[in-house]
Formats: sequence, structure tokens, C-alpha cells
Amino acid sequence: MAKTVAVLGTGIMGSGMARNLVEAGFDVTVWNRSPEKAKPLGDVGAKVAENPEAAVVEADFVITMLFDEDAVSEVMERALSAMRTEAVWIQSATVGVDAVVRLAAKANQAGIAYVDAPVLGTRQPAEEGTLTVLAGCPTELRPAVEPVFDAVGARTVWVGEKPGDGQRLKLVVNSWVLSIVGATAQAVDFARSQGLDPAVFFETIAGGGTDCAYAQLKGKAMIAGEFPPAFPLEGAAKDASLISDAMQAVGTSPVLMEALRVSFEAAADAGHADEDMAAVVTAFHV
Ligand code: NAP
Repeated sequence: MAKTVAVLGTGIMGSGMARNLVEAGFDVTVWNRSPEKAKPLGDVGAKVAENPEAAVVEADFVITMLFDEDAVSEVMERALSAMRTEAVWIQSATVGVDAVVRLAAKANQAGIAYVDAPVLGTRQPAEEGTLTVLAGCPTELRPAVEPVFDAVGARTVWVGEKPGDGQRLKLVVNSWVLSIVGATAQAVDFARSQGLDPAVFFETIAGGGTDCAYAQLKGKAMIAGEFPPAFPLEGAAKDASLISDAMQAVGTSPVLMEALRVSFEAAADAGHADEDMAAVVTAFHV
């Protein structure tokens, strides 16, 4: 019999993940706070639930793909007591390291197994099922969760066994991603402000040792001034804050991340919160 997966949160990432789970043969139930984002998944074979409790009641696996810790905590406050005790909670939102301790404690209290599984990749990899899953997962749960990870991702990195191991690596990777985007925005504005065509900057680095596909991609959006969201700027600001706090806690200087956080927050406050994080370029011109 097909295993049942509930996906709570069908925004940019959760909707792609839910589609791929349906395609992989799972029985999928979805729930989203704003129902219009969950409804289209009904057309591809998912059940659309009216509330989180109804979504999880028969699930073998419950995936949370909500914005942040507060959202995950609020929703799971309702869902945990409705879950079957054999079910596994796969927490994939980027919530940071401290949050995992609190969320895993809630799961523990409810007698539910908790797997820390943030993902790398944005809208397109989520839609194509080519995410990279960063798993903090007890060895004994690996065989159970592996088919779920294989449905949403091209690769799983088994980082460690503890809740938080996946989030730790996720924050490291995102510190790199946010830095590339910030540095690209800085170069675009610096070129423009000196009267240079920023496209010439990208042509100049192309194919050389400092070239970077991600900088080329985000640079195109910055030059065009078009920011359809793949990684929303509000999420980048949230992640910069989580990364900065985690750096301070372990003794890594957050000076660069703080500068990025301020820039992402300024662009969000200027009205770009729901646009792609490439819109941070707007904060670089003073
Ligand atoms: P998104 O499209 O903005 O979706 C956010 C989801 O969270 C929506 O379903 C939203 O519901 C829900 N939500 C927010 N606050 C809520 C609350 N208080 N109660 C219930 N639901 C709430 O974001 P996304 O890009 O899919 O990101 C989801 C998670 O994945 C985030 O943790 C993000 O950092 C992480 N992530 C994103 C990317 C990326 O490139 N986009 C990559 C890797 C990881 P509504 O629709 O009702 O607003």
C-alpha cells in the first residue's frame, strides 16, 4: 500500500515538493493557510485538507515547509496531537539551530519521531524534484525516510544523527549563497554608479576563476530590474538573521552577515519583501 505524506505549507517550495511526492506514488494530502495556494494541487492528485489536523491524521510522514519557526510551531501545535504515533515529522523549513531544539522537544512530548531535513535549491529544483536534502536523522529512521527524500531531491547528505545537524549545514551553505548575492549586487551598483554597463562586468568574469553561475543568474535579474520570486527576499533577511545569531553563538565574526542582513532588511522595508532576493541590489545605491 502507498505510504501517505502530508505537506503543511504549499508556498514556492512546498507545492513543488508535494507534486513530486504525488508523481513518486505517495498518497499526498496538502494544507496551506491561504487555501488558494493548495487548491491547484488537487488537480494533480493530492487531497486538499481544510486544516492541519485533517491533513496529518492518516499520514505516515508529515513535512513542514512553512516560513519560519513561529509558523512551524503554531501549525504543529495543532497537528501533533492529531498524528499517528508511528508517523515521522520531517521538518524542512529553514528555522535555524536553536529552533530545532524547541521543535524536537515538542515532537518528543507528543511521542512523534522528528527528522531535521532542510533543503538546498530554490523554485526550479523544488519543481523538478532535484533538491539536496540535508538530513539530521537517526540511523534507524533512514530506510523509512529515504523514499520521501528521493521523491523531492536528487541527493541526500546524511549530515549527522542529531536534530540540528541538517540546519547547521544549511546555515553554512546559505551564508555562502547570501554572500554571493550581496557581492553581486554590490558589483552591479558599483559598475553602474561609475557609468559602466554592469553587463560588461559579467562578460569580463565569464569563464574565469572568479566566475559563478549563481552570480550570472542573479546578475541578469539585477540588470533587468525584474525579480519574480524564486528565493523571496523576506526569506533571505530571515536567514541572514538566523545565520548571524548562530555565528555569534559559536565565535565566528558576523560582521559580513550583519552587513548583508541590514541590506536585505532595507530592500524588504522598501517594498521588495515578496520579490526575489536579487532585489537586494536596490539597497546598494545610496
Ligand atoms: P513561501 O513561498 O513564502 O511560503 C511560505 C509558507 O509559509 C506559505 O505556505 C505560508 O502560508 C506559510 N506561512 C507563513 N507564516 C505562516 C503562519 N503563521 N501560519 C501558517 N502558515 C504560514 O516560502 P518558500 O520559499 O516556500 O519557503 C518555505 C521554507 O523553505 C522557508 O523556511 C524557507 O527559508 C525555506 N527555503 C526556501 C528556499 C527558496 O529558495 N525559496 C530554498 C530552501 C529553503 P501563506 O501562503 O498563507 O502565506
